[in-house]
Amino acid sequence: MLNAFTIDLEDWAQAVLDPCLPVTEHVLANTERTLSFLDRAGVKATFFALGKVCERFPTLLPDVAGCGHEIASHGYGHQLAYRQTPGEFEADVRRSIEIIASQIGRRPLGYRAPAFSITRQSLWAGPILARLGFRFSSSIFPVAKRRYGIPDAPRFPYRWPDVDLIEFPLTTLRFAGRNWPACGGGYTRLLPAAVLAHAIRRMNEAGHPAVIYLHPCELVPGEVRDFIRRGIRVSAIRRLTQELWRSRVAPRLTRLLDEFQFGTISAALQAIHLPRRAVATTEATIAAAPSADREVLAPC
Ligand SMILES: [Zn+2]
Repeated sequence: MLNAFTIDLEDWAQAVLDPCLPVTEHVLANTERTLSFLDRAGVKATFFALGKVCERFPTLLPDVAGCGHEIASHGYGHQLAYRQTPGEFEADVRRSIEIIASQIGRRPLGYRAPAFSITRQSLWAGPILARLGFRFSSSIFPVAKRRYGIPDAPRFPYRWPDVDLIEFPLTTLRFAGRNWPACGGGYTRLLPAAVLAHAIRRMNEAGHPAVIYLHPCELVPGEVRDFIRRGIRVSAIRRLTQELWRSRVAPRLTRLLDEFQFGTISAALQAIHLPRRAVATTEATIAAAPSADREVLAPC
C-alpha cells in the first residue's frame, strides 16, 4: 500500500504566530534539510507551498520541483479558511496558484488549508477549490479539536459531493469510540513511533493509504530560540509546545519510511480505487453546514 508523505512548506513564525510576520530565511535551510532527508529515504513527497514563502524566495519552489516532488498549494498568506469570506478565500488561493504557476510552469492540482481550517464553518471551500481546478484537497482532519476538525467526516480518501474533488483526510487512529490524530506535525513529536506505525498499519490493513504531514522546521531542534533572538515574542508555553521533542522527529520518520511505502498524494490516490459516489456522511455534514456567518480577518 502506497501512503502519502506531505510537507507544508512554510516558515515557522509566520505560519504559527502571526500570518503578518515576514517570512525569514529559516525556511530555506529547513527545506534544504527536508529535501536531504527525503533524498536519503528515496521518497518523493507532496509539498503544499505557501504563496508568501514562494514570493519571498522565488528559487525555492523550482528547487523543490527539480528534485521530483509534487507541488501543491497551501494558499498565499496562511489565513484560516473559516475566518475568511468565500471571496477572500478564493482570492488568497488564486494568488497562490498564480505564483506557483509562474515559478514552475504548471498549476497545482492539490490544496491544503492552513491549519486544516476546512471545518463545518467553511465547507463552501470545496466547490471553490474544484472550480479553481484542484483535483484533491488534504484539508479536513476527522477529529474533534478546538481549532480544527470535523469529527464525523470520513477517515479515508473520498469524493466531495457534487463537485470533482477528492479529499485525502489527515490520518487518525480509531480508539475508544473516537478518532485520534496521528502521523503528523506535533503528533509525530508527541506520540511514540510504535503508535504512529500502528496507525498506519491499521489504515493499510483496512485497504486505505495513510498520510504523514511534516513542517520543515520540525527537523530543526532549537530553532525557536533563533526567532526569539531576532526580537519575536514567544511565550514560554508556546516555546515548550512547539519545540518539545523535535529531535525525535527524524528518527521516528526514518523508522516509518523503513517500514512502509510512501510517495506523493497523487501517486497514492492513483493506486487506489475510489467509489464514484460521494460518501453519505460527508453529504450530511455539508447539508448541516451553517450559512456564511464568519468573522472577517483584517488583512496583513
Ligand atoms: Zn501551514
